[in-house]
Amino acid sequence: MKRAEVVFSGMRPTGRLHLGNYWGALKNWVSLQAQYPCFFAVVDWHMLTTGYDDTSKLRENSREMVLDWLAAGLDPAKSVIFKQSDVPEHAELALMLGMVTPLSWLENNPTWKEQLQELSKTKREMAAEGASKVATVVAAKGTDAATQELRTFGFLGYPVLQAADILLYGGTKVPVGQDQLPHVELSRDIARKFNHVFGETFAEPQALLTPAPKVPGLDSRKMSKSYNNAIDIYETEKSLEKKIKSAYTDPNRKSATDPGHPLPCAENPPGCSVYALHKLYADDAFYAKRGDECRAGKLGCGDCKKDLLSEMSKPFDEFRKRRESFTPAQVDQVLAEGGERARAVARKTMDEVRRAMRLR
Ligand code: SF4
Repeated sequence: MKRAEVVFSGMRPTGRLHLGNYWGALKNWVSLQAQYPCFFAVVDWHMLTTGYDDTSKLRENSREMVLDWLAAGLDPAKSVIFKQSDVPEHAELALMLGMVTPLSWLENNPTWKEQLQELSKTKREMAAEGASKVATVVAAKGTDAATQELRTFGFLGYPVLQAADILLYGGTKVPVGQDQLPHVELSRDIARKFNHVFGETFAEPQALLTPAPKVPGLDSRKMSKSYNNAIDIYETEKSLEKKIKSAYTDPNRKSATDPGHPLPCAENPPGCSVYALHKLYADDAFYAKRGDECRAGKLGCGDCKKDLLSEMSKPFDEFRKRRESFTPAQVDQVLAEGGERARAVARKTMDEVRRAMRLR
């Protein structure tokens, strides 16, 4: 069966987005809007799978994230922008998909196994600060208890809910990062299994691996909120300047005339973070020239950082202006309208699903 291409993707509401999120995902979403019908969801239920013990910031974080989406150029006139929890059909479909999903598929999911370990570590750290109810259990009962608290039905079923997200809208192209490949693969398997059992109902989704340039954090590790090394896509001029000034360069350079190592190499294994950012914000000719100048010891890192700041000033100014042009009420409005549009499609799909399953 030939189907129209539909783009679906989602992000968990972690609050403000950083340049890693922008260059790795959001920028691609913005360009996909021009080519395909697109659905972009704030997947707040997915956030609950691991964060159920602290929901105090969920709403605020969703709003902040959608503001960043809008600032980056996602356009509610082109894309359906909505919140998963506004469309209860996601839960209904996830329940139905759960019927055909063997437990072994979920238990063997590499992402789940890794995250379980990672997260129980995080909760243990939070326990030291007494941050949440789960963390308190951890503090009282130890590590195994942490893992047990996270080994929930909901978390194991994360990919089933993700499959429901995509399949509800006939998503065929799922722009995601490398790390999400196992999940999209599982969505495909689940769609196939359902179609096999109940007859052709769902299009089979496919990951759309979009170009994701490497964005190092200020300390040269991967940019991540939890490493505290991130540049947000919405920074004040002052804070952007402060962050760039603190960015990792080539530690071998003691003076401006020392030859530098801008790219990853034996002398500077992670490579210079400032140079990596030039690659994103300067034109190719400048980027190449700057590499030569650095290697020849022709300028100091301070001046190099100033150049970077001036390259970044225009795009950051645009983000700032666009973000500040939306009020919280407008964000709520975007989500309300998007929720209605999403729901109309989701209802139709669920009618077909119920019919296929002979529930009606
Ligand atoms: Fe990095 Fe620029 Fe310093 Fe070279 S001169 S190490 S590219 S900041």
